[in-house]
Amino acid sequence: MECQVGRLHVIAGCMSSGKTGELIRLLSRHAVVGDSVVVYKHNVDSRDGSKARSRLGTEMEARVVGSSAEIMAAGCRVVAIEEAQFFDEGLVDVVRRLLRDGNIVYATGLNQDFRGEPFGVMPTLMALADDISLLTAICQKCHAAGTRTQRIVDGKPAPWDSPLIWVGGADYYEARCPDCHEVPGRPEV
Ligand SMILES: [Zn+2]
Repeated sequence: MECQVGRLHVIAGCMSSGKTGELIRLLSRHAVVGDSVVVYKHNVDSRDGSKARSRLGTEMEARVVGSSAEIMAAGCRVVAIEEAQFFDEGLVDVVRRLLRDGNIVYATGLNQDFRGEPFGVMPTLMALADDISLLTAICQKCHAAGTRTQRIVDGKPAPWDSPLIWVGGADYYEARCPDCHEVPGRPEV
């Protein structure tokens, strides 16, 4: 692929909004024309090993890394970063360098954490993006548009002060609308 002007497309949304499926769709267009595509995912996300897998059943091979410093591109290519909210703040400079060098960059991630607050580097990446796809899910309680990620621990909504990233706990996540999103202990605004 000829070196072009770098471009950043962020695919954001809550749990179960179809971010990985959309990423795979976007990347498949590059595969058609023979662009070199590399997908990175953080090792915090141990689901599916080295695969980026969508609920549609589509999947792509991914490189599993422990920090943003391990993300690199030799020459001009298409670089995709899955679950960007798990990465350290260094990801912003990594993405800027990739763009400067003419890479096409895609990043998926949760724009809000389980409390409904901006999540990690995602707000910054969205501010730097040339394109944003902000996806919605369906609220698992009332079937309205789901824009929030509900964390549930032992069958109850997780409290405000529970850890931001909690790996290996007996917790799970649901898409919820703002009305059905519950965060016990949330400070008044
Ligand atoms: Zn709802």
